[in-house]
Amino acid sequence: MANRPLCSLDLQNEKIFYQDDSFIVLRTKNLKGHRERIMIIYRRHQHTIPYKAFERALNILTQIGREVFKYTPKFVILDTTFATINDHWHMVASDLDPESEDFDLMLATRWIKVVDNMYPDQT
Ligand SMILES: [Zn+2]
Repeated sequence: MANRPLCSLDLQNEKIFYQDDSFIVLRTKNLKGHRERIMIIYRRHQHTIPYKAFERALNILTQIGREVFKYTPKFVILDTTFATINDHWHMVASDLDPESEDFDLMLATRWIKVVDNMYPDQT
């Protein structure tokens, strides 16, 4: 990343769960009181992504989330209205701990998907 001084992505100390040519899934820097809180980031400097790519990102985050959030029956994938990364499209997944710091904010955020770990994905 040294040749991209404007990029806010610094992945050196991050816990990476998945990566390919388009996306990276990693643990968020700030867990906000959750046992796990992860996000998927689009590698390119774009605020929006094509719908096909969005569908793929949702699928990846769901699959990785099912592993990462094994300890809890349900997790949610959230809209990134209150996001801290500005130059990359991204999407957050989190458990539903009511004791977490951002639980009220989570309730105020649009939930893109609720994933039920007790059941496989409905298609
Ligand atoms: Zn960047």
